[in-house]
Amino acid sequence: MNDITNGLPNRLPSLVADTQATLDRIARDFSPAVFASSLAAEDMVLTDLILRAGLPIGIFSLDTGRLHPETLAVVDAVKARYGYDIALFHPNQQAVDQYVAANGINAFYDSIEMRRSCCGIRKVEPLGRALAGNRAWVTGQRRAQSTTRAELAIEEIDAAHGMTKFNPLADWSEDDVWQYLRDNQVPYNALHDQGFPSIGCAPCTRAVQPGEDVRAGRWWWENPDSKECGLHMVDGKLIRIKSVAA
Ligand code: SF4
Repeated sequence: MNDITNGLPNRLPSLVADTQATLDRIARDFSPAVFASSLAAEDMVLTDLILRAGLPIGIFSLDTGRLHPETLAVVDAVKARYGYDIALFHPNQQAVDQYVAANGINAFYDSIEMRRSCCGIRKVEPLGRALAGNRAWVTGQRRAQSTTRAELAIEEIDAAHGMTKFNPLADWSEDDVWQYLRDNQVPYNALHDQGFPSIGCAPCTRAVQPGEDVRAGRWWWENPDSKECGLHMVDGKLIRIKSVAA
C-alpha cells in the first residue's frame, strides 16, 4: 500500500496508519464488506483511503430522493477523481407514495415518530438491502459528532443486521478530517463551505452558526438525544455495544 502519511503533521499520521490498518483488516478478514457513504467529509476520507489502496470494499450511498444536488454531485466527483461508481440504493417507491399520500410530503416535521417512519422508508429499508450478503459494513461516524455517538467503538457487533460494523474514524476530530482532505486534495460536498458541517436530506438539514454543535443543523427541531436516523439503532433504541476489537 502507498505510504500517504508523509508530511502530515501532529497526530494525523498515526490516525491515518491506524485507519489504514483497520481497513486492511476488514478487507482481509471480513470479506465481503461494504462502506456506507453519506457523501459527507468523513466519508470522503474513507473513500480516498479505500480507493487509493484498491481495497475490495464496495462503496454505496442511499439516495433517499430528498438529497441536495450538491450531495449527489459528490458521486460524480468520485467518478471523475477515482474512476469509481458509487452504488446508489433507492427507497421502495410504493412505500414512499403511501407515506406521502397518507401523511404529506413533509410529515417528518410533525413528530419524532413521523420522522423515524420517513427515515425507515427512505434510509433503513434500503440500507438493509445494501448490506444483505455482507459480513461487515463500514461507516464514517465519529465519536465527537454528537451526544448520541459519544460511546462509539471502532468495531461493534451490529445485531440488527447480523454482521460486524466498523467505525474506523471514531477517534478522529473534525480538524483531523479537514486536515486529511486538504493534504490529499480530496473532493468534498460543496455544502460544507456554506455552513453545513453535517449533511443529510435537504428538508432535514440546515446551516449552523459558528461554535454550534456539528449536528445542530440535523433535525434541528428535535431533542439532541433523538437525532439519529435509525441506521445505527436497534428496535428504535440506540445500541451501546462494547468494542470487540483486539
Ligand atoms: S432525513 Fe428527513 S427526508 Fe430524509 S429520510 Fe429522514 S425524515 Fe425523511
